[in-house]
Amino acid sequence: MNSQPDNCHQQNAGNGCNHQGPNQNHKSQHVGEPEAQALPMPVPDPPIQYTKLFISNEWHESCSGRKIPVYNPATGELLCEVEEADAEDVDKAVRSARATFQVGSPWRSMNASDRGHLLSRLADLVERDRLLLATLEALDSGKVFLMAYFVDLMATIKTLRYYGGWADKIHGKTIPWNFPLMMFAWKIAPALCCGNTVVIKPAEQTPLSALHMAALIKEAGFPPGVVNVVPGYGQTAGCAISHHMDIDKIAFTGSTAVGKLIQKAAGDSNLKRVTLELGGKNPNIVFADCDLEYAVEQAHSGLFFNQGQCCLAGSRVFVEEPIYEEFVRRSVERARSKVLGDPLLPGVDQGPQIDHKQFDKIMELIESGKREGATLECGGSPWGQQGLFIQPTVFSNVTDDMRIAKEEIFGPVQQIMCFRSIHEVIQRANATHYGLAAGVFTNDIDKALTVSSALQAGMVWVNCYNAMSAQCPFGGFKMSGNGRELGEYALQEYTEVKAVTIKISQKNS
Ligand code: NAD
Repeated sequence: MNSQPDNCHQQNAGNGCNHQGPNQNHKSQHVGEPEAQALPMPVPDPPIQYTKLFISNEWHESCSGRKIPVYNPATGELLCEVEEADAEDVDKAVRSARATFQVGSPWRSMNASDRGHLLSRLADLVERDRLLLATLEALDSGKVFLMAYFVDLMATIKTLRYYGGWADKIHGKTIPWNFPLMMFAWKIAPALCCGNTVVIKPAEQTPLSALHMAALIKEAGFPPGVVNVVPGYGQTAGCAISHHMDIDKIAFTGSTAVGKLIQKAAGDSNLKRVTLELGGKNPNIVFADCDLEYAVEQAHSGLFFNQGQCCLAGSRVFVEEPIYEEFVRRSVERARSKVLGDPLLPGVDQGPQIDHKQFDKIMELIESGKREGATLECGGSPWGQQGLFIQPTVFSNVTDDMRIAKEEIFGPVQQIMCFRSIHEVIQRANATHYGLAAGVFTNDIDKALTVSSALQAGMVWVNCYNAMSAQCPFGGFKMSGNGRELGEYALQEYTEVKAVTIKISQKNS
């Protein structure tokens, strides 16, 4: 065990990017960030202080002594090595979380308002370290720095504050009762708000912000064992968690294929409760009566946001026939205007893909689109001399049977399809095993209501896309998942209802 954090510094990110003037689209319209006076800048040469396992508020080396290499996807450089958790480390973390959850422990006896105060204090600390966390997030994941700062960090802070406010408002009823950092907040905030203890395994590619959050959790004053962070790989640490007999609930974000394994592991072990936030192949329906310029921009950002690595990506854009050609023309113009490069540099609005596996998968799907007869309007190739960059790609004349119309690409590849009637588009939009999110663009309230009620999707946005808040439930229909994160609905996922019936003595009547 070692209570001192490592001191390891990242190398300066490479450049060679096509960078132009400041990009005005860095602020997502749905985040509600007040106008910034000056654009924030990444922390130069940021220290990577935390690379060990966080258990019982202490930094530990892994039992196996193995480490996970963490790379900068913009340059391929090694940023640092993080201790790799396996089953034995997961066990240690679970024992710590269990001990902290004992009846009578300081955490169990803490006043609910004080629990809420700890979450609010954590939000304050995240706000204090916002620049550093956004820089780490950009370095580690290839996410554009300003996106990390304005979208992910803001959403993280708001989620922590939101559940901080709920902590003392959860009560029983007397009959007549779910992006690395953001995902971290979405999971721990409602769980801690309800008084649970947590073991969290961040994605192996992006452990740095979760480890920094661990340090802030200790600084905020959470008792030891309340939150334990065990970076590791899916087939070892992830598998140990999903099969563990002493974990009561799993909240998982990832692919549908792994979601199925986790649900099966729950069934094979202790029937632990499982909430799943999985993939999507989300329809975005654009009627001819919409505001065309706005719809083109929303469909563009709805797909290309975060290099297209978003479960919510509107990757099937259905456009009504009268405006189809013009919509495609403008979408191609918009995609060609994107600036690729080092995500830490101002003016860049598309960074690299996260790793070689995802890069190869995206390129293979682009090739399948070409082979199957879709029209490649722009992009379709890797970009730059180094790093995992892919040109913004637009396909038109896409048909529903093509792989690019059916499979989640998770990359900067937009499919634009043509439709002729409202009933046709509803049927085609729903013809998928996924059901996460959908968008509708129209100025006709009747069409908006008809389509939004008919779509099989957990979130439907009318004349907007990717509109999310800590208060609004998040989750999917069908194979996009089970259960909901965020909002009041998430509280149900972290509580058990207990019916206590008391017989009233008849002797005084
Ligand atoms: P993935 O499923 O391959 O990996 C996700 C996590 O699962 C990783 O932390 C990995 O270590 C772990 N894992 C892998 N095998 C495991 C196993 N056998 N047991 C336990 N854990 C295991 O997903 P990915 O490809 O890294 O991420 C992209 C996917 O995530 C896409 O499908 C995307 O739509 C989805 N996603 C969904 C949401 C949502 O909220 N619905 C949000 C972001 C991403």
